[in-house]
Amino acid sequence: MEVIREIHELKARQAVWNSPVGLVPTMGYLHEGHMALVRRARQETATVVVTIFVNPTQFGPSEDFERYPRAFGRDLDLLRSAGVDIVFAPPVSEMYPDPFSTWVEVEELGELFEGVSRPGHFRGVATVCNKLFNLVSADRAYFGQKDAQQVAIITKMVCDLNMKPDIVAITTVREPDGLAMSSRNAYLNPQQRAAAAVLFRALNTACQLYRDGCRDVAMVTRAIADIVHEEHLAELDYAAVVDPTSFEELDTLERPALAILAVRIGTTRLIDNMLLKE
Ligand code: AMP
Repeated sequence: MEVIREIHELKARQAVWNSPVGLVPTMGYLHEGHMALVRRARQETATVVVTIFVNPTQFGPSEDFERYPRAFGRDLDLLRSAGVDIVFAPPVSEMYPDPFSTWVEVEELGELFEGVSRPGHFRGVATVCNKLFNLVSADRAYFGQKDAQQVAIITKMVCDLNMKPDIVAITTVREPDGLAMSSRNAYLNPQQRAAAAVLFRALNTACQLYRDGCRDVAMVTRAIADIVHEEHLAELDYAAVVDPTSFEELDTLERPALAILAVRIGTTRLIDNMLLKE
């Protein structure tokens, strides 16, 4: 496994890479959710490139960029044992030379839900993914369904801008109590960690309502909100039922629907989602 820090080095090595090339973009502090993406890339592509880059442009000024957890040595061990070929871990100055002035924005979709709660977040995500797709010349890029709006935005960007990679979405990997694995779970103290299971409980209840025949969107979102409100350490940011591609809120549950929510526990913000299906 090669660890590359600089763009010129990445470009120089590409000539010998076998096709297809699979890209797994991450911010590091890897867990089983990330590793599910890596394993899938390893199965499907000849050269697996994992990027570790805590992207400052997707963090708001009052967000956790500085204290975002980092464990580079441990990440490398995990990636080496998963048979990854290349780790690209550039410093910020390499990705954003000063002055940097070109940005990618996905309108509408990027202005909903996470886009409202985290202004500028998706502009940072779309821009860095665009750069990584170009740098790596990826044939496939792997993303987690946990960040469903991110998957929708990247898929839309690739389509609108005729970009190369196929986008592959991987099912959310969960802890035994259902909490979606996330690097940010490390911020939770034991009481908060226990409370965080409320996201999965709420989504499961929504899914169960659907399976019991409920097709009333308001009733489903109210059930999610009620369950979150019962957990006194949790504060609901939003809960909604949306179209999985456009993230438009649905009036009826007669077509594919995604239940989404964001919850604050202390200073930690967690998101999750679940498809409503039989
Ligand atoms: P991050 O390092 O948080 O930016 O995540 C890197 C990639 O891993 C993103 O595509 C995430 O959606 C994905 N990911 C994070 N957590 C999970 C999880 N629990 N299950 C599946 N994919 C995940």
